[in-house]
Amino acid sequence: MIPRDDASGVDQLILDSIAKWLARDVEPHAMRMEHADEYPHAMVEQMKALGLFGAMISTEWGGLGLSATTYAKVVTMISETWMSLTGIFNSHLMLAKCIEKFGTEEQKKKYLPKLVTGELRAGTALTEPDAGTDLQAIRTRAEKNGDYYIVNGSKTWITNGQQGHIFGLLVKTDITTDPPRKGMSMLIAEKGEGFSVSRKLEKLGYHGIDSAELVFENYKVSAADLIGGEEGKGFYHAVGGLELGRINVAARGVGIANRALKESVKYSQQRKTFGKQICKHQAIQLKLADMATKCEAARLLVESAAKAYDEGRRCDMEAGMAKYYASEAAVENSLEAMRIHGGYGYSKEFVVERLYRDAPLMTIGEGTNEMQRIIIARQLIERNPI
Ligand SMILES: Cc1cc2nc3c(=O)[nH]c(=O)nc-3n(C[C@H](O)[C@H](O)[C@H](O)COP(=O)(O)OP(=O)(O)OC[C@H]3O[C@@H](n4cnc5c(N)ncnc54)[C@H](O)[C@@H]3O)c2cc1C
Repeated sequence: MIPRDDASGVDQLILDSIAKWLARDVEPHAMRMEHADEYPHAMVEQMKALGLFGAMISTEWGGLGLSATTYAKVVTMISETWMSLTGIFNSHLMLAKCIEKFGTEEQKKKYLPKLVTGELRAGTALTEPDAGTDLQAIRTRAEKNGDYYIVNGSKTWITNGQQGHIFGLLVKTDITTDPPRKGMSMLIAEKGEGFSVSRKLEKLGYHGIDSAELVFENYKVSAADLIGGEEGKGFYHAVGGLELGRINVAARGVGIANRALKESVKYSQQRKTFGKQICKHQAIQLKLADMATKCEAARLLVESAAKAYDEGRRCDMEAGMAKYYASEAAVENSLEAMRIHGGYGYSKEFVVERLYRDAPLMTIGEGTNEMQRIIIARQLIERNPI
């Protein structure tokens, strides 16, 4: 798919509509709903109307056809207001994008029109209790039996696990291959008999959205729902989706870092100590300057990774750098914002408390930052051989 030209003005209209929606329908409710860990059903309906469930899917299938560059801006804006909402459509888009990119024509026709409207809502189920970073160690098995696969195993931490209908399910179709990734496949798994949600997981932050454990007991998936119709490609499908996933997490990091800065710039002008606004104290100025510089650097890294993605270039290093830097910026800025707010930063009445709880997730999701640094280093060597 060729992303629409940014200069068309359509992307700006979409960004403007999202900004209005955030101010009118999200910001006034986000703090209460996040504290109550309440699923945002009404906001999901509004997200459907805004087209977010088809944001990066081609207009041919009814999607918005956004480039990764514009998509990253959308994710940053929403994360500034309430980061949890981005998980609802990003995990969904990872499966939709995987079907659009690698699926058979039948799979595209069957699933994409319902995915872009949000009639079917999706998630991506890779992680297992004993395998997160080391995806090749997954144990969920899919054994072929005529026209079906019989799936047994479990997945954990699956975003949209409770509320979603359909999942990109990474399984082993062959346990004898060396390396193991050659025996891995991705199935389109719709909820039904043999597929159960065993529990919703309690978390530090990222409230309002469901992270769940999924269990598969003799669960039947039609062979027609093997993505691309060919076994042994699942690892590549999963890793291919992670590049976009990393750009998305990086964009969320920028959103959190930006919001921490905005709250700090505002509060430091309101609060007075020793007869002057705290923004007039040099110690606070140094913090604000560091925070602003990190926001700008993180934004530019995300833009550069998204541009590489849009141009169809290999971008694991760029996405890794953006994800690593922006997520650390989110963690650092949210802590600095808390310090600038003094005791009030520790209060649930101020948004910086939420930013502080949400930020660390960005260092873990879509590949931990330790792994991002390893990916960056490997790429550096590969791209600069002597
Ligand atoms: C809120 C939330 C939502 C999530 N949503 C999803 C989802 O929708 N779908 C999904 O599939 N997963 C999801 N995950 C899972 C997430 O992707 C994993 O938690 C992540 O990949 C890390 O895996 P792990 O937790 O098993 O940690 P581990 O792999 O056990 O890693 C533990 C530590 O060891 C380090 N480490 C591991 N291997 C190496 C190595 N080779 N070199 C150096 N350090 C290493 C890691 O960096 C980490 O610090 C979610 C997680 C959370 C917390």
